[in-house]
Amino acid sequence: MTKLNENYLKLQSSYLFSTIAKKVAAYKQENPSAEIIRLGIGDVTLPLPSAVIEAMHKAVDEMAVSSSFKGYGPDYGYDFLRQKIVETDYLARGVQITEDEVFISDGAKSDVGNFQEIFDAKASVAITDPVYPVYLDTNVMAGRTGAFKKGKYSKIVYLPCTAKNNFIPLLPKKHVDLIYICSPNNPTGTCLNKEELSKWVEYALNNKSVILFDSAYEAFISEPDIPHSIFEIPGAEKVAVEFRSFSKTAGFTGTRCAYTVVPKALKVFDKEGGEHSLNSLWGRRQSTKFNGVPYIVQKGAEAVYSPEGQKQIKENIAYYMENAKIIREGLRSLGLKIFGGVNAPYIWIKLPKGVTSWDFFGKLLKEANVVGTPGAGFGPCGEGCFRLTAFGSRENTIKAVERIKQLKL
Ligand code: PLP
Repeated sequence: MTKLNENYLKLQSSYLFSTIAKKVAAYKQENPSAEIIRLGIGDVTLPLPSAVIEAMHKAVDEMAVSSSFKGYGPDYGYDFLRQKIVETDYLARGVQITEDEVFISDGAKSDVGNFQEIFDAKASVAITDPVYPVYLDTNVMAGRTGAFKKGKYSKIVYLPCTAKNNFIPLLPKKHVDLIYICSPNNPTGTCLNKEELSKWVEYALNNKSVILFDSAYEAFISEPDIPHSIFEIPGAEKVAVEFRSFSKTAGFTGTRCAYTVVPKALKVFDKEGGEHSLNSLWGRRQSTKFNGVPYIVQKGAEAVYSPEGQKQIKENIAYYMENAKIIREGLRSLGLKIFGGVNAPYIWIKLPKGVTSWDFFGKLLKEANVVGTPGAGFGPCGEGCFRLTAFGSRENTIKAVERIKQLKL
């Protein structure tokens, strides 16, 4: 009899977006003529920038010739891409990061999900609530939680983010080893400013904790006081790992390229208190389990940093953020309380009292044929809230807002 890792049995039914997809498919089957607008899943809709496409075409041609053909690439990514990342995303912003602290990968989802396996199975974990579900589920799989009861796993430290605290988490009252922070946040669209983020870095320094900082949406930041990188905060290089992605920044959701920064100053400890470099451990993990991102894809990612690439991604981001504005202003005119949508492509709606997020999902689907994401899917504090994304086409975004405006809320 082959036994399984029973932690998998603790996971809650299916992944949020599969549940939504099933509900939408069932509705569509019953109502085949319904013209459904999807503002639910956070996938981009604009095609890859032409600078990226040109670079990838060129790379494909290189693969056709023995002299330029590439087989296995370096496990941690090609130097040409690591160099551009360091220069543009860090040094240009005054942040000292070196190329050997950057690990190229096929996605922030896999990196942020895999990273926890380096830490002790008993490490205590804090996550903001609501938040991107991958942080929690991967720790459930690894056995760091107890049972799921009344919407929460025991042993996890949930950091409530609600309208009352403007979705800014308070520091935990007790010691935690691992802290997941997502800023700009998915799903609330809110961000930690320099002062707020500094408190977390200070907490981690005092507690010898590690912050797993997901800044997949940093390119959407428009306000000056919001750090793009946690390494803008002094001391963060001793306590934080940063996850970034080309998915939303440059339309790579289907192309797959991301990177993780693990500073060499960051140490973790064995049972005897001996120090170990997290950078070396992550390198060891990646070289064992990962064989690199395709050359063609990394060439595409490199082109994001060319002057044309930078111009094109900025135009695309501006397009999405104009959608965000249309949603924000449209829904605000209905008297709803709206968060996010300024430094992030997510608009977080506080629902009228007594309306649950799955009720609102059903109402929106049936009466407006618009798909959004119920806040409860991101954690217990997400109940009573609802997420819309700015990644639709302009036409669909306008249409969706007009339809929602017709609803009796
Ligand atoms: N992190 C956050 C907060 C996200 O919202 C997402 C995608 O929705 C990811 C990571 C995944 O990024 P990637 O496409 O690079 O795997």
